[in-house]
Amino acid sequence: MPKKGEIIIDERLCKGCALCVMFCSKKCISMGKIGPGGIPIAHFSDPEACTGCGVCGWMCPDMAIEVYEYVARRPL
Ligand code: SF4
Ligand code: SF4
Repeated sequence: MPKKGEIIIDERLCKGCALCVMFCSKKCISMGKIGPGGIPIAHFSDPEACTGCGVCGWMCPDMAIEVYEYVARRPL
């Protein structure tokens, strides 16, 4: 089963540098959504492709991204 992840982008912290877009190998993040400050900010545009690798979170200079990886549970 492929790894599956999810990210949460804090729109209040994102400055629109697009580093997360450049470094996501799965192309899950895009720019274009207008944030509270009136600038384009990062948007989690393809959640299905995210593996939870964490690279976007490491690259963000403003710590605006939280990364979660889904872990399979054994049946009860
Ligand atoms: S966790 Fe990895 S795959 Fe998911 S959006 Fe971030 S860089 Fe892309
Ligand atoms: S790296 Fe961080 S600050 Fe830069 S666009 Fe992505 S979320 Fe925003």
